This record gives sequence, C-alpha cells and structure tokens, in this order.
Amino acid sequence: MNTVVPPTVPRPYQSYVYAYPHKTAYRPLGDNRPALRELWADEPKDALSLYLHIPFCEVRCGFCNLFTRIGAPDELTGRYLDALDRQAAAVREALGDGSPVRFAAAAFGGGTPTFLTAGELERLCDIAEKRMGADLTAVPLSVETSPSTATADRLAVLAGRGTTRVSIGVQSFVDAEARAAVRPQRRADVEAALGRIRDARIPVLNIDLIYGIDGQTERSWLSSLDAALGWEPEELYLYPLYVRPLTALGRLGADADAAWDEQRLRLYRTGRDHLLARGYEQVSMRMFRRAGAPPAASGDHACQTDGMIGLGCGARSYTSSLHYSFDYAVGMGEIRRIIDDFTTTADFSRAAVGRWVDGDEARRRHLLQSLLQAEGMEVADYRERFGTAPADDFPVELERFAALGWLDTAADPGLLRLSEQGLAHSDALGPELFSPAVRAAMAAYEPK
Ligand code: SF4
Repeated sequence: MNTVVPPTVPRPYQSYVYAYPHKTAYRPLGDNRPALRELWADEPKDALSLYLHIPFCEVRCGFCNLFTRIGAPDELTGRYLDALDRQAAAVREALGDGSPVRFAAAAFGGGTPTFLTAGELERLCDIAEKRMGADLTAVPLSVETSPSTATADRLAVLAGRGTTRVSIGVQSFVDAEARAAVRPQRRADVEAALGRIRDARIPVLNIDLIYGIDGQTERSWLSSLDAALGWEPEELYLYPLYVRPLTALGRLGADADAAWDEQRLRLYRTGRDHLLARGYEQVSMRMFRRAGAPPAASGDHACQTDGMIGLGCGARSYTSSLHYSFDYAVGMGEIRRIIDDFTTTADFSRAAVGRWVDGDEARRRHLLQSLLQAEGMEVADYRERFGTAPADDFPVELERFAALGWLDTAADPGLLRLSEQGLAHSDALGPELFSPAVRAAMAAYEPK
C-alpha cells in the first residue's frame, strides 16, 4: 500500500518578499555599464511609478536592515538633494521625448523622508515635478514618516504638494516593547504625531505595527492594535519581527526558534481576526485596509508589469529587462561611504549595479507579486502576458503548495489564490519561487 507522506511544513518566517529579485542578488554591472538612454528606449513610459529615496533617520531601529544612516550632518542632506537633482536631470533626459513620459504614482521613502526640513521637502517635491515632470497633485503620492519627524510644518508642505498617503512606523504603542525593538519612543509623542497627521487631512493614514517583540503578549498586542484603531487608519501593516544580520537585534544574538515562530503565527492570527472583525479587509499577509477607504495606490500603474524610476542612492529602478540601483549595504560604515560616493557623483547616465531579468525571472516575479496578494491571481492575465499557464511553468512548486494546503481549493478554477494557511506562510512561500540563480546569488552575497 502506498502512503502519501505530506511534505514537512517549512519555517514560516524566512524572508519578506517585497521585490524580486532581492537587492542582494544584484551585482556591479562591470565596465560596460548600460546607458539609461538605451535601457529605456523601447520601454513603455506612459504609466511609470516614481520613487525618491531619502536614506536618513534619527535613530536606527533594532530590526531595520534598510539602507539608511543616522547622525547626518546638516550640510549632508543639502548635498544629497543636490545629487538627487543632478540624477533626476540625467534620468529625465535619458527617458527622452520620443514617446509620452507620464508618472502614474509617486512615493518618497527611506529611511525617513521627513528627516528633511520643511524647506528641503519643498525642494524634493520640486525635483519630482520640475525635473521629472511628475504631476504630484494629480497622482497618488505616498510618504513615509516617523513620530518625531511628523511635525506640523513638514506635514503642511506634504499636504499642500498633493500627498495622498502618509505611512508612519509606530511598531508598538507599549513603550517597553518599543525599547525592546530598539526603537525608543514615548507613546505620548506617538499619539501627538498621529494627531498632527490627522490635522493635516491627508486622505490615507497607514500605521505600521510589529508583532513578535520580546515581552509582547497577546494582550499587549491587542492593546497596540486598539490604540492604532482609535485613529481609524485607512490602512494598517502588521509586520512580523525579523532579526537580520548587522542590525542591532542581530548583534544582540537574538535568533529564530520554533517557539518564536509559534508566537508570531499566533499573534498574526490574533491581529488578523481583530482587524477583520472591525471592518478591515486583508490585502496581503501584512496589509489591511479599512472597508470603504479611498484606494491609495494608482489604478493605472501595475507593479507586475509597469516600469519604475527610483532616484536616490538606495532606490531601485525597473525596466522589463534590468533591475538596477546603486551599491547596497546594511552596516553603518559602508552606508556612509555609499552615500558620500552618491553625493559626489557627476555622471548619472548609466546603471551601476543590478540584475538582468529574463523571461523565466519575469514569470516568477509576476507569479510572486500576484499570488502574495489575498485576492490572488487571474490565470488568464498570466496566460495573456506569457502565453502559458502557471501550472505549465511551475508544476512542481504549485503541486507542493497544494500539498501543503497553501492554495485555496474553493477558489474559481480561473483564480490562483492562497488559502488562509498559505497567506500566513507568505514569507515561506515567496522564497520557494526564487530561481536557482537568484538563490545562489543571494547566498553568495556577503552582508556589509
Ligand atoms: S525602521 Fe524606519 S525609522 Fe527605523 S531605522 Fe529603519 S527606516 Fe529608519
């Protein structure tokens, strides 16, 4: 008699796949660095997204491995904006005027964009509008902020220039938990910042919270969720805590173990159920949107297919064949060096570091980015783009996901959608779709 042995369930928290391929799979593009003009020549440019990266923060949170530095001297932000301006001019010229260039969405991310002063934020908006030609008052504009930098003067600039969404990293409303995550802050300051954001009347407020912090209980997690819900945010992102190399928590020696996995899964389900019961819908494992809230994203930019222009030294840009950026690091010394190099760069006309994306990688990216959304992926859309069905291209992976109970068997046959279990295991499922080549490049990357 043949007994079918169910596959072992992989550990749930392996990697947050918000972009594919990950930057650790990028490499220097060598002596023949491709010219942006050639890279963009035949790309559709009528629904691009624009991302401006500000790599500065007041403090370095213990869990954070983003490309950002603390303790920036005053003149550095000015020099950084000078370089951003030069880069924007070079990139806009490279896009050319042979076919219409239009930005359908814009975002300022970081780091903490509101580390800049109100005057510097005006300049940032000018770079997006005057240099790049993005009409910030006509497209969705999302900006990240932090409790201590969300000041009334900065928010007034952002609101006046057309910001439609502000996202604030709170992480926890419990002061002791914020300290444990190496993000010291006082709840009173957080509440005051949220009040200022609401006063600025920016349509969408997103609050980021983290679960899995040392000392966090189901009760304290619910109290943080309720404190956030008190502001009726249009969006909430619930992030599992990760301990990553070269971060403060990583250096403290905290490590993933089965009990911690269990705690995070439990808190995830508690948080999800709490929000669903309060009129929020689940958009992805991390994202929840209040029913009836205005959509923050652009309806006419599709992140699976449309191009992205990233400006700033930590920003990525995507054409259909190359994803590119600048050098990448997590350690503070290397980050400083890379930012210094960026501020002295005169020639921004070529891509420096990146990864070529072939047909197989494009399929993986499309499947990943669609499947990790709660609404799932229309098989017909995939077939229209690639001429094949996902089951033709990824039979082994999809069979395995089905055997693990990660696919919603009740979904319409034309829809590939994750089950509740699959969505909860998004950070295990995503990495299973990485190609062998990307996996090898990521494994060979040495954190610096
Ligand atoms: S989590 Fe946000 S505020 Fe904290 S260090 Fe990272 S980018 Fe800066």
